[in-house]
Amino acid sequence: MAGEFCANHPDRPTALRCNKCAKPICPGCALHTPVGYRCPQCVRGQQAVFETAHWYDYVTAAATALVLSGLAGVLLSRLGWLLIFLAPTAGGALAEVVRRIVQRRRGRYLPHTVVAAMVLAALPALSLWMLLYVGLAGAAVFARLRGSLM
Ligand SMILES: [Zn+2]
Ligand SMILES: [Zn+2]
Repeated sequence: MAGEFCANHPDRPTALRCNKCAKPICPGCALHTPVGYRCPQCVRGQQAVFETAHWYDYVTAAATALVLSGLAGVLLSRLGWLLIFLAPTAGGALAEVVRRIVQRRRGRYLPHTVVAAMVLAALPALSLWMLLYVGLAGAAVFARLRGSLM
């Protein structure tokens, strides 16, 4: 078999390839990811892309969600059934504000942080409407922020 050799180990023949950059890699180098085998260089590069948020982005994102979501929750929970239509919109708007405040930097746990802050903000004025608001708006925020990570 006129095989190829690992890009990192020229003495090791291999049939594996990184499924991103198509570089030949030996089983010792190949990293198993949810999308297939990748070389260490590609995996490292990808992590750098995913995680660009600074630690203070988490703090400002949480603080923003705490204040804005707290206010929106109190306002919307007075509107009765209208809340069901307005909460996802409010969540989408909140996600946009957060994205702008962190200057579109990406953090893997940023969506979780924002939703946790929303839950926290709802606690002082907890009611059935507030729970409904947090559920609907929280899902919208999570989906929007998660989507912007891809
Ligand atoms: Zn690669
Ligand atoms: Zn190798």
